[in-house]
Amino acid sequence: MVVKVELQAPIEKKTVIDKLTRTRNLSDGELLLLLATDEYDSELAQSADAVRRSVYGKDVYIRGLIEFSNYCKNNCFYCGIRQGNEAVKRYRLSREQILSCCKEGYGLGFRTFVLQGGEDPYYTDGMMCEIVSSIKSMFGDCAVTLSLGERSRGSYQALYDAGADRYLLRHETADDEHYSRLHPESMSLKARKECLWNLKEIGYQVGAGFMVGSPYQTIANIISDIRFLQELRPAMIGIGPYITHRETPFWNFSNGSLELSLRLLSIIRLMFPYALIPATTALGTIAPNGRELGLAHGANVVMPNLSPVGVRKLYELYEDKICTGEEAAECRFCLDRRVTGAGYEIAVHRGDVKDEAMYGQV
Ligand code: SAH
Repeated sequence: MVVKVELQAPIEKKTVIDKLTRTRNLSDGELLLLLATDEYDSELAQSADAVRRSVYGKDVYIRGLIEFSNYCKNNCFYCGIRQGNEAVKRYRLSREQILSCCKEGYGLGFRTFVLQGGEDPYYTDGMMCEIVSSIKSMFGDCAVTLSLGERSRGSYQALYDAGADRYLLRHETADDEHYSRLHPESMSLKARKECLWNLKEIGYQVGAGFMVGSPYQTIANIISDIRFLQELRPAMIGIGPYITHRETPFWNFSNGSLELSLRLLSIIRLMFPYALIPATTALGTIAPNGRELGLAHGANVVMPNLSPVGVRKLYELYEDKICTGEEAAECRFCLDRRVTGAGYEIAVHRGDVKDEAMYGQV
């Protein structure tokens, strides 16, 4: 994609932020102005936080993340659990182990469980449907979010019919060429997008998103990502910094920047006032107060780890991932302190997306 920058009188950054807040959109040139700078902009963050508060108040929605398998048939060049990484000790959780994580999580106030794993064909549709329907029948007031990668439309439909409410599948990058630099030939942006549209049509609350500062990413790529999100209008938008992993082909690339990640969170909040936007674990990994900063820049969701402590270190998408040592209860209390300290409050309910029709249109 070619980004056109009109040559005209210099645009004031403040004017651009005001326009973004008012119209929820910007031209490519205006986005470039906000993105291609290292300057910290408190005004952008303040506008994003004001919009977030106008839609979600002080509420922070929490999701209990259960990383149930680190087997993966894919070989994404950035990911630590890629099939080609022979240094990983692989594990799978049983239905009973997953249910016991949910039970513990329920007691700690979680009303959404996110089941995430590598693309692991061991979990057939039948098995996954049984896991989803068991969770839904044991915890009737809870939502189930799946993050299992690419599956057939029939599989997504079966899982939805079994009770799954939401699905996270980051598009990773909306530029074909960039996509092919991050993934092996067997994977394509076209297939990824098709999955996302299928999920949306079936009725899931869908999450898309991308890594900030992934290898070879340009500002033009990020603008394409934003344009794709505007087309898809997902309920959830996950963006976090790329973090390098020694056992991947990208071992010598550097991490994405905290500043750009935060600026993007704010821009995305201003464009999608209704969206559920997590302050990601990756953000908390590149800076000790990364998740608090994420909340202050427009994020309204956090996804602490509910996986059994014994397997947490094995789900190593990137290096030095935080929260791999603590028990779930410790994590939950630590999170409470962080969220309250940042001026927000944890909400104990499913935390569904707000109606886009009320908040999404200008
Ligand atoms: N198999 C599932 C889950 C993938 S892991 C799926 O395909 O959706 C969840 C997300 O972690 C990925 O979508 C990717 O954006 C992110 N991720 C993977 N490796 C990463 C890395 N090295 N740094 C930061 N984020 C990473």
